[in-house]
Amino acid sequence: MPSSTTDLRTVRNTAGKQIPAVRSARPCRPLGLRLATLLLAALLPAALPASVAASEYADAAAERLSEYIRVNTQNPPGNETRGVEFIAAIFDAAGIDYDTAESAPGRGNIWARIEGGREPALVLLNHIDVVPADLRYWSANPFGGAIRDGHVYGRGALDMKGLGIVQLQAFLDIAARDRKPNRDIIFVATADEEAGGAFGAGWLVENRPDIFEGVGYLLNEGGGGTVLAADTVFNVEVTQKVPLWLRLIAHGNPGHGSTPQVETSVTRILRAGDRLARTKFPPRVIPAVQGMFEGMAPYQPEPLKARYADITNAVQDVEFMNYLQLTNPGQHALLRNTCSLTGLKGSSKINVVPTEAELELDCRLLPDQDPGAFIEELALIINDPNIEIEKIMGFTPAVSSIDSHLYRAIEAVYAEEFPGSWVVPGVTTGFTDSHFFRDLGTASYGFGPFVVPLEDRRGVHGNNERVSVENMRRGTEVMIALLERFTLD
Ligand SMILES: [Zn+2]
Repeated sequence: MPSSTTDLRTVRNTAGKQIPAVRSARPCRPLGLRLATLLLAALLPAALPASVAASEYADAAAERLSEYIRVNTQNPPGNETRGVEFIAAIFDAAGIDYDTAESAPGRGNIWARIEGGREPALVLLNHIDVVPADLRYWSANPFGGAIRDGHVYGRGALDMKGLGIVQLQAFLDIAARDRKPNRDIIFVATADEEAGGAFGAGWLVENRPDIFEGVGYLLNEGGGGTVLAADTVFNVEVTQKVPLWLRLIAHGNPGHGSTPQVETSVTRILRAGDRLARTKFPPRVIPAVQGMFEGMAPYQPEPLKARYADITNAVQDVEFMNYLQLTNPGQHALLRNTCSLTGLKGSSKINVVPTEAELELDCRLLPDQDPGAFIEELALIINDPNIEIEKIMGFTPAVSSIDSHLYRAIEAVYAEEFPGSWVVPGVTTGFTDSHFFRDLGTASYGFGPFVVPLEDRRGVHGNNERVSVENMRRGTEVMIALLERFTLD
């Protein structure tokens, strides 16, 4: 790639002033808020795109996404094998070997490898399935892949067929070159991410560990860019809150609805639910979250700016925490363990008092929280020996370090392609398939080469999901630039 950074003596910032080619705009903050790499890239006028060479694979990305969206892989049931066939045809046409496996009928997975040198291999991970769409609220067919007003519309445009196509196009671009990479690059498209990955990434890790032998790095969904004030800020996801899904089961004497008892399974479960709903777990700031809030601080109005910049102290203020939960529940959830009460089950008949009543809890733990200790804490809050706590699902917590070759390459590429942008290591409240690989010790990052307007983010799992044609083209170029930097050096 014709990188323009190395031999430039000066560059132009947006004000047109000459400044040194490589500089730090703001001092690095204590906990590693890596300053965004203002390796300003180009002598080009600010309005022109930065340094990436045009790629036919980038130009074709939006059209290819439109076709992929038309392959209906709504989960449930998934039918990811349809997506596997779509991708396999592309590999066939490009003369690239691939392998596929179904974890269950219709639940296909596909992977392909560019052979390289002996450095730890890199996985490009994406999921084929998408969440359902409620047609009544869409202005376009969610499985039509329409391209209009400069956008590709459809379920999966952002989550994550768009990024899957970007990975695929970049993979094809590198595969078409004569130069052998310094490491293997493995493209892996999986089933079932939206339902927890048991038939996709989780199944492959368990049943096809050969794919991941020698892998040191992984890129997945979970990151990306937003414009805040006048700055472009990229979030690179390094860890996630850890889901712990629980079922409380209360026991009691059954009976007839006409003769109420003092205590039943239902009264017990209601009391437990009430206690939990009133509980606010102690706030706590982990380093990755601290870095994130510090990174967001400059874009907040006063007095929030000061609170975000000193989030460790701010969380001790109950009023601030309540305000944050009201106005920004997503950010609030990064500052403490949480449990949402979601499912309730009692009797199936109105005049029967049941022996058992159940309450399901979707708890999300900070990545350093021990799940066993948390369940013990819940038992103390519930304080009822007639209620058992059953674990439905739980992951082990893990964080990927920002002190890695790949993280530094990401910072450098963002700086080069989006001069003046900021890069912030991020924590998400939701989860992706990355945890399967963090568990294996693989440095895994949520890396998104798109800059998505805040209003378009609502399309993720929502209505009228779309991604701009320009994001698809430019995003593919950025992904290619990252692969060049990380694998062709
Ligand atoms: Zn996703």
